[in-house]
Amino acid sequence: QDLDRLIAKSVRDIPDFPQPGVVFKDITTLLADPEVFGAVVAAIADRHRGATVDHVVGLEARGFILAAPIALALGAAFVPVRKSGKLPSDTLSATYDLEYGTATVEMHTDAIAPGGRVLIVDDVLATGGTGRAAVDLVRRAGGTVVGFSVLMELAFLQGREKLADVELHALSVV
Ligand code: 5GP
Repeated sequence: QDLDRLIAKSVRDIPDFPQPGVVFKDITTLLADPEVFGAVVAAIADRHRGATVDHVVGLEARGFILAAPIALALGAAFVPVRKSGKLPSDTLSATYDLEYGTATVEMHTDAIAPGGRVLIVDDVLATGGTGRAAVDLVRRAGGTVVGFSVLMELAFLQGREKLADVELHALSVV
């Protein structure tokens, strides 16, 4: 697919970031190209047009960059899921395991309308821990997850296995 190739060309591999042995997918080079950035936003929005999306949840921090224009394109509410301690009002939180230690993400308790239909967006799906936590937060808030879209899926980390109960779509799989 054309967009798949464009994405592969626009995302940069950074070896040994944030730690030795990890090859980090740097999307800043894609964001700097308005043609590719625009095509990515349009592709994810088009996929969910007509499905009635009330909320687009973006995962801090790079997920925000994609989720906000997708929310506007769909006429949906943008909702941030943030790392713990950042959101000012009452929050729901979910904690998940990392290779070393744990991480916690939060969402405002009143962010999702009762029965709201939710599309979750992030840049990269790696181990799936962040995505799993986000799905659980949305469901606990009373929302229905109608889709989970990422720019890139790192298939070798098998994050998809943690999200078997959602409609997961990646524009590019590596
Ligand atoms: P996971 O919880 O699936 O292991 O990690 C996903 C989260 O970490 C996403 O929010 C994503 O932004 C970030 N992440 C993990 N690996 C990469 C990577 O190689 N490149 C980028 N851009 N983000 C990554």
